[in-house]
Amino acid sequence: MKGLPGQILEIVDLGVVVLDTEFRVCYWNRWMALHSGIDKETITGSLVFDHFPELNTPEFLRGARMAFTFGSPAIFPQSLHHYLFPFKVVGTPNGTFDLMQQHCASAPLRQPDGEIEHLLITVQDVTERALTQLRLRELNIRDQLTGAYNRRYLDNRLGDECKRHERYHRALSVIMLDIDFFKKVNDQHGHEAGDRVLAAVAGKLMAVTRKTDCLVRYGGEEFCCILPETPLDNACLLAERFRSSIEQLAIATGSGDLRVTISLGVAQLKPEDTPTTLLKRADEGLYEAKQSGRNRVMVHEPTTSSALLDCR
Ligand code: GH3
Ligand code: MG
Ligand code: MG
Repeated sequence: MKGLPGQILEIVDLGVVVLDTEFRVCYWNRWMALHSGIDKETITGSLVFDHFPELNTPEFLRGARMAFTFGSPAIFPQSLHHYLFPFKVVGTPNGTFDLMQQHCASAPLRQPDGEIEHLLITVQDVTERALTQLRLRELNIRDQLTGAYNRRYLDNRLGDECKRHERYHRALSVIMLDIDFFKKVNDQHGHEAGDRVLAAVAGKLMAVTRKTDCLVRYGGEEFCCILPETPLDNACLLAERFRSSIEQLAIATGSGDLRVTISLGVAQLKPEDTPTTLLKRADEGLYEAKQSGRNRVMVHEPTTSSALLDCR
């Protein structure tokens, strides 16, 4: 490409690629060479899929077909596709994305006679934007002190999990738990030490759960854990693991190492349950665990005469 437009295309902070109808590379700007490590001379004339087999997806081919057949442009947003070309992230690792997040677009290029023989692809690096969006989303759904999810997230997530249960009949359980005599921690060691205890308890619980489980800060020192694909027995085992791991935890605070215990209630979703009644049953188990001495796991079963089950 010559002249001013050619110079501009080489300088812009944007990947610009032109393919012919057989997906051979006709133009590859400096940005693409820089990020791919493949220079223009090497790639020009070769099949783009030989260098980037990842590009050979139904979505990309559909976009290309739309361009060549109907002259329509297509967009490949980061939120849907993450990237078209697998390029390394520029700069220091961000801990979230290994590969550059891209907003890409394709559009037909017409010959003077109106024929479409080429496809233009533009590639924008939107990694920073995607990271910011992700962080904002996390801020919106997480409790700042403990890093656990917040109530807003619980409402949405539990609703979704209940719907999934309805459709696929997969087991779903929840654990409600509360730190025992937490007021004493604040009273005897100060609010700051209390905050440290809260964060440490949540950290330990999150370390014990599976990736698919979801720990929520339900209130001050009360947490709720959603356990998809988990029947009651397994939920009780996990609750017991929660209980013993917190019992063994020594939490470093300004006033020395502190120890706390937790009480827990467990419930499994029943066909007639709503998210509210499920949480209520787990909460009733928790209440009974408190009543019967604390530092224990209980299941509230209103339908049986031996209504309460100590899981220990
Ligand atoms: P129980 O065993 O019956 O649960 O007794 P408890 O003392 O834990 O329960 P209570 O509900 O009487 O006290 C809860 C305390 O938790 C009171 C409140 O000040 C404290 N709390 C709630 N949120 C926070 C917080 O974010 N940080 C700190 N440090 N304390 C909190
Ligand atoms: Mg408490
Ligand atoms: Mg409480």
